[in-house]
Amino acid sequence: MIDRRGTLFVVSAPSGAGKTTLCHEIRLRLLDLAYSVSVTTRAPRPGEVDGKDFRFVTESEFRAMLDRGEFAEWAVVHGNLYGTRADALETALGEGRDVLLDIDTQGAAQLRTRYPEAVLVFIVAPSMAELEQRLRERRSDAEREIARRLDRARHEVVMWRQYDYLIVNRDLKEAAEQLEAIIQAERCRTTRLELRFPDLEV
Ligand code: 5GP
Repeated sequence: MIDRRGTLFVVSAPSGAGKTTLCHEIRLRLLDLAYSVSVTTRAPRPGEVDGKDFRFVTESEFRAMLDRGEFAEWAVVHGNLYGTRADALETALGEGRDVLLDIDTQGAAQLRTRYPEAVLVFIVAPSMAELEQRLRERRSDAEREIARRLDRARHEVVMWRQYDYLIVNRDLKEAAEQLEAIIQAERCRTTRLELRFPDLEV
């Protein structure tokens, strides 16, 4: 009865805001949400699975994909290359599936241009002090890396105005509920829908 093309839900945040955990949580709540697996030149972290968390490639492999025009967006983040494959997005959207993307602010801006109907959600920690504490608790990064991420976060946080929605991540459950509410509301937007009653001529 209802036809709908898929929607892109783009989530960005300064690192340490809890975005990865939040994206994981929302995928458990909304099982029909497709997840865009990014291509990256960064080394895998312990526990990360190639093809599931990221597709890990060498820089020359990444550059070859870039030359072939395979990315819907791409960016350099913390010295590594990251990109979203255009074909994977198009397939999911064409099948009417919604796609969740965990990408940085540069990539989000590129996708906004390419897909003006995408929904952009920005996540922030309640304070910079909280952000720093979360980065330290993660322990996966060296001190210099933490300083680099904090510095970048200070610059990135001002980007929130370019997004459609802002979530302050004080608590995972509350933030996940807000993100779920955003996705569900956007799914009901009349501008995204085509309504056809089989028994009504309009
Ligand atoms: P991490 O390497 O810590 O998982 O991610 C670092 C940053 O890169 C995060 O802000 C994440 O959202 C971003 N990122 C991950 N995949 C992509 C992508 O495909 N494109 C862009 N532009 N950023 C990405």
